[in-house]
Amino acid sequence: MLHGQNYIGNTLSSETNKSFKTFNPILNKKNEFNFYEASKKEILDAVNLAQNAFQKYKLTSGKARASFLEAIAVEILLIQKNIVEIYCKETGLAVGRANGELARTIGQLNKFAKLLKEGNWINASIDTGDPNRSPAIKPDLRKISIPLGPVVVFGASNFPLAYSTAGGDTVSALAAGCTVIVKSHPMHAGTGELVASAIVKAVIKCNLPSGVFSNLNSNGIQLGIDLVENPVIKAVGFTGSFKAGRSLMNIANNREVPIPVFAEMGSVNPVIILKEILSKNIDSLSDQLSKSITLGSGQFCTNPGIIIGLKSKGFTDFSNLLAKKISDIDSSCMLHPNIISNYNTNKSSILNSPNVTNLTRFKNDQKANFPKQGLAFVSANDFLKNKLLHNEVFGPFSLLVECDNLIELDNVLNNLEGQLTGTIMGTEKEILNNKHLIETFKEKVGRLIINGVPTGVEVCASMLHGGPFPASSDSRFSAVGIHSIQRWVRPVSYQDFPDTLLPDELKNNNPLKITRLVNGVNTKKSI
Ligand code: NAP
Repeated sequence: MLHGQNYIGNTLSSETNKSFKTFNPILNKKNEFNFYEASKKEILDAVNLAQNAFQKYKLTSGKARASFLEAIAVEILLIQKNIVEIYCKETGLAVGRANGELARTIGQLNKFAKLLKEGNWINASIDTGDPNRSPAIKPDLRKISIPLGPVVVFGASNFPLAYSTAGGDTVSALAAGCTVIVKSHPMHAGTGELVASAIVKAVIKCNLPSGVFSNLNSNGIQLGIDLVENPVIKAVGFTGSFKAGRSLMNIANNREVPIPVFAEMGSVNPVIILKEILSKNIDSLSDQLSKSITLGSGQFCTNPGIIIGLKSKGFTDFSNLLAKKISDIDSSCMLHPNIISNYNTNKSSILNSPNVTNLTRFKNDQKANFPKQGLAFVSANDFLKNKLLHNEVFGPFSLLVECDNLIELDNVLNNLEGQLTGTIMGTEKEILNNKHLIETFKEKVGRLIINGVPTGVEVCASMLHGGPFPASSDSRFSAVGIHSIQRWVRPVSYQDFPDTLLPDELKNNNPLKITRLVNGVNTKKSI
C-alpha cells in the first residue's frame, strides 16, 4: 500500500537505502513499511524544481490556484479510507479523530479556494497620480501582495493531516502562489505519503509544473536544516517544540539572506478562575477543564497547562474535584514513545520541584504509551521563584497556581511568557470588576477567552492562532484561518505603470471585480 519514496516534484525517488519505519503506539510495535531518507541530491533536486516551478506557478490566476486546491481536496477524499487506516496505525488516534481532522483539512482547502476566487485577499491599493499637483507632481502608485517564493513546511506530529502535508501551512502557501517542499513528519510518514500522492495527482490534473509540491522523508533533523539553509528557500512554516522552532529561527537568521520562520511553538495557555464563579459552578468548571486537559491525551498546543486561582475554600474544593475527575478519566494513547517519554520527563521535573504537590493518583500501571494524566498544585510564591514551572508539559497535565490575592495574581500573569491563549473564568460582574486582567492578558496572548476552554481551535477568519514569542515566532500572524495566507506574501508597489503592464488586480477597469482601496476608499468600481 505504501512505497516509502520521496516525491521530488511529481517523480518518485528513493536514492538511499537508509530507511526508517513509523510506530503503532497502540500495538507498541513498528509498522511494516519502510520510508527512504531523502539524499542530499534529492533535497537539491526538490529545491531546484521548486524554484523553477515557482517562476510559472506565481503567474497563475487566483481561479487556477483555487481549482488546484479543490482538486487536492477531491483527490484526498478519494483515498480517505486508506489515509484514515494508516493515520490510526501511525498515531494511535481514533478513527473519529482521523475523520474529523480530515474533514478539517478538506474544509481548509475549500476555504482558501473560495478566498482565491473572491480575490480580495491580495490587498490591492491604488493612489492615482496627479500631473498638475504643485509644487511636485503626484506619481500614480499601486500596490498588491506577491508570493515570497519556495516555502518549506515541517509537518506537525500532533496534526498529521490538518497541520502537515496538505495542512494549513502548505495550503495557505500554495494559495499565496508559493511552491512548497514538505519535510514529512517521521512519526506519520505513511499518512504524509498518501496525502502527498493526492497533491501530486492534483498538480498533474491541473497542468501545473512539477515542483509546485515535493514531499521529503527523514527521521533526523539534518534534512530540515539543509532546506532552511538553502538560499532558494524564502520562508518556513513550522509547528512543534520550542527547541526545534528556535533552532530553525536561528538558522534562518544566520543565512546570508535571512528569511522568515513562522514557528508555532505552543504554550501553557493560562486559565484564571475567579472566586464568585467557583461558588456557583464548581462541578461544571471541573468537568469542562478535566475534559480539556485530557482531550487527545493533552497533545494540543492550546492545552490548558496552568490554572490560576485565588486562595479560598472554593479553589481548594475545585482543585480536589478537578484532580478526582482527571484521575477518573481513562487515559488515552499518546502519539509516539518519544512524546510520552518527553511528557514523563517534563512532568517529573515539575512534580519533583520544591513545594509542588501531586494531586492525581493512579492505582494501576498504565499500558505502554498510555500516560498517567496529571494535576499538581503550587503556591504563586513558589511558582514565581521557579521558572521551570512555567514550561509547557506537552500532554495531559496541568498545574494549579494558588495566589494569596489579586496583586499576586497580577504578578503571576506579568511573569508569564507569551502565550497562544489566555482564559478568564468568572461571573460577568467579577470580570467587569477585574477588567485589568483582560488588559494584562492582551499584552501576553493571541486569543482571549471568557468562560470557555482553549482547546478546539475554530478555523475561521477571526481566529488568531499565534501569540507573542515564544508561543509563536511572529505575533502579527495567525497559523489558522484564511489570514494565514499573509505570511507568505510581501507587498510590491508599481509606480507610473501603463495600464497594459499592470497586473489584472490593479488595472483601471478592475477586470477581476475585486475590492480595492482607491484613493483611500474601498470600492469595486473601475477608475
Ligand atoms: P519537534 O521535536 O519540534 O520536531 C518537529 C519537526 O522538526 C520534526 O520534523 C523534527 O525532525 C524537526 N526538528 C526537530 N529539531 C530540529 C532541529 N533542531 N533542526 C531542524 N529540525 C528539527 O516536535 P515533535 O516531533 O512533534 O515532538 C517533540 C516534542 O515537541 C513533543 O514532545 C512536544 O513537547 C513538542 N510539541 C509541541 C507542540 C505544540 O504545539 N506545543 C506540537 C508538537 C510537538 P525529526 O523528528 O526528524 O527529528
